[in-house]
Amino acid sequence: MENLINNKFLLLTYIALAINFAVSAFMLTNDPILITTEKIYSIAGEAGAISCGPIIVVKENHKDDYEYLRHEYQHYCNQAVLTPIGHFMIYVFGAFEGFVRYGNWKMAYANNPLERDAFDKQNDGIEFKVFDWNLKQKKTITNGR
Ligand SMILES: [Zn+2]
Repeated sequence: MENLINNKFLLLTYIALAINFAVSAFMLTNDPILITTEKIYSIAGEAGAISCGPIIVVKENHKDDYEYLRHEYQHYCNQAVLTPIGHFMIYVFGAFEGFVRYGNWKMAYANNPLERDAFDKQNDGIEFKVFDWNLKQKKTITNGR
């Protein structure tokens, strides 16, 4: 215990891992929190929707777009199971592996295993629930069929 307190790196690593698994446990037992916003900036430029841990952010003009929400929900599910840090490491590895293989980031993105999984599922038609942060209530997402 004294060793843990004296070693700041080890202490911060344990705190990060504890938060990582706590977030994962929260995600496995709750619905995603959906936030609607005007604009989303990511490292890949302007995006229609992104997900990070328990939060899915969607741009105003895509808030009723099943494909966008279902795509991000798949990322949410993968993050819940792989834990956010595990998902991040696999995603980044997939991005760089794709860049080495295809020579450009657009193809690397399209062929990232976690993106391919999300693209495969975005039209499967399943229903899922989200907590709509803007409306402060639960909402069921369906593909309208
Ligand atoms: Zn995606």
